[in-house]
Amino acid sequence: MKADKKNKILVVDDMDINLELIKSVFDLERNFSLVTVSDGKSAISKAKTNYFDLILLDIMMPEMDGYEVCKILKSYPTTKNIPIIFLTALNSPKDIKKAFQYGAVDYISKPFSIEELTARVNLHISLKRTTEELIEAKRNAEAAAEAKAIFLANMSHELRTPMNGIIGMVDILKRTELTEAQHEYLNIIESSGENLLTIINDILDLSKIEAGHMELESITFSLKDELRRVMNIMQIIADKKRLPIILNIGKDVPAYVKGDPVRLKQIIINLVNNAIKFTEKGSITVSVENLDTKEEKARLLFKINDTGIGISPEGQKKLFQSFSQVDKSTTRKYGGTGLGLMISRNLTQMMGGDIGVESVESVGSTFWFYVFLELSDEESYKKRHQEGEETDTDKTRVHVKLKILLAEDNKINQKVAVLHLNNLGHQVDIANNGREAVEKYENIGYDLIFMDVQMPEMDGIEACKKIREIEKKSGGMKKIPIIAMTANTSEEERKKYVKAGMDDYVSKPFKQKELIALFKKYTV
Ligand code: ADP
Repeated sequence: MKADKKNKILVVDDMDINLELIKSVFDLERNFSLVTVSDGKSAISKAKTNYFDLILLDIMMPEMDGYEVCKILKSYPTTKNIPIIFLTALNSPKDIKKAFQYGAVDYISKPFSIEELTARVNLHISLKRTTEELIEAKRNAEAAAEAKAIFLANMSHELRTPMNGIIGMVDILKRTELTEAQHEYLNIIESSGENLLTIINDILDLSKIEAGHMELESITFSLKDELRRVMNIMQIIADKKRLPIILNIGKDVPAYVKGDPVRLKQIIINLVNNAIKFTEKGSITVSVENLDTKEEKARLLFKINDTGIGISPEGQKKLFQSFSQVDKSTTRKYGGTGLGLMISRNLTQMMGGDIGVESVESVGSTFWFYVFLELSDEESYKKRHQEGEETDTDKTRVHVKLKILLAEDNKINQKVAVLHLNNLGHQVDIANNGREAVEKYENIGYDLIFMDVQMPEMDGIEACKKIREIEKKSGGMKKIPIIAMTANTSEEERKKYVKAGMDDYVSKPFKQKELIALFKKYTV
């Protein structure tokens, strides 16, 4: 709406002499352009149809006084942000208070000094400009962050799709007849692929955090079980360096808590991984204690102590920031992206806590973090696990030969999935897109459908909705299990799948054992 570079001021006063005086003051200043009106109604109509940087408003006017004019201007979207300065002979504290209550930014008592008038007008115009610039900068920054988040989400999808080909094929190839050397080479490809996948996941997590899209789950879990499980896996890695991992769980640590076990484990795995990475001899101790319990929430303190290289005081200052590693030589020697601690810090803060470190060079480090977790009980835990337990115990289900429909447009990923499924003894039909999937479903009976989400012609979500509609129309009681196969695993996406009628999802790249777990859960 801004017409030119001059500062445009609307002056409202019922006394012509005042209007003349103000006009003469600003005529001397070349960068001002003034519009004058002598009543409230004209002021409102002028302000609505023209751009103004500021309004100088008399209070005592016939018909409509300045307070009323101010109130109306502040209620219109296009005029509400124009700063208003009252020019008034009313200058009791009560009047001044009223002026500010109605939304004025300032007031000037009549008779006014020219210096004061120009100084206040200049001040408020420059404040308005700065505010506008800040709003614009914020808007641009938000748009850029949003664009970056979308780009990264797409990129992560693009990166994970070929990774599915690599990791999937390695998994299949490892099950064939191989020489020892070939097996060794495949192990290297596998661990390199997995490392690359960790980096992709870290970048995705960070972009989600930065865009404010990271969501935490709230489910009941057994803290001790989860910790023991994590330590068993970490011990396998630590065994290669002959480092024992000692787990100490405090007596008053609650058995069942409610929170996001996956993200909690992510923090712990990250810290224990670092501890193993930066320790050559000695041991690693993981401890957890309950600091206090208030309003059904426990404040749990976790400590991961190592006897490794330690971190200098300068190095410690750089920790927990994006892309920061203590020094370049460490990066060359140990690798890593410097994202882990940053992600961990964000996750602990999302759980109401914080993270920090105490460390002495050449002696070792203790990374600590605390989080708040709701107290829960065995009953809620059992309720959540009942379904899983029932199916888990029924081992015979795994060995049934199933007829599976695989909807997937990417030829390599088709091959990976078919090989996996054939390996498990199942028969597979392929649909190249959602439309084909619906057709095949209608004409041929299947036990289960794996459905890629992003496909040409008709995507997986649409296809799933169509299949559920057909099921409804035919009045059948039995729903065919539909499992999404996706490279996108955000909470938001998962909700979309469930809403569309999918039963579960498997994230790409997947391994054979993940498919086995799904068969156990969904087939009879
Ligand atoms: P990275 O993927 O590089 O390990 P992190 O954010 O997890 O990223 O760690 C950042 C840096 O902090 C590491 O590169 C290392 O310099 C330092 N660091 C982290 N944990 C330890 C530890 N237990 N002992 C010594 N240095 C550590």
